Amino acid sequence: MCLGCGRHLWPKRSAGRSVRTSAGTARLRRRYLSCPRCRTAGYPLDARLGLAGCVSPPAPRRLCLAGARWSFDRAAAHRKEFCGLSVCDNTIRRACQDHGRAPRDGQRDAPAAAAAFRAADGGVEFQTDGTAVNTAGGGGRCG
Ligand SMILES: [Zn+2]
Repeated sequence: MCLGCGRHLWPKRSAGRSVRTSAGTARLRRRYLSCPRCRTAGYPLDARLGLAGCVSPPAPRRLCLAGARWSFDRAAAHRKEFCGLSVCDNTIRRACQDHGRAPRDGQRDAPAAAAAFRAADGGVEFQTDGTAVNTAGGGGRCG
């Protein structure tokens, strides 16, 4: 049923898709449906299964856990070693960034969330990532 107008959706074609799960990569075959009236179209099975990216719904939690503990490339290597599942460092990075978006948006959009910080005494501090600081000994330490 079309969510836009309530008419029946027409099947147009089927297409495969790979999804990384905790048990490995699953290959799905699902139908692409289209509404002849309002032109709404897509793969309803993806929404029903909660698939928004290339990983299954429980996977982002585990990817974030690994990404919060280690660098993204090291987290990918540990996942491979511990679970036998290959996930590239950019998939872990994307999962962490997507997951971090909700609290960031909440802090930005809810005035009460930052009120105590704005009212506090002292200088402003910040955190950053992806930087290198040169030291007197000539080496750099990545933050
Ligand atoms: Zn429709």
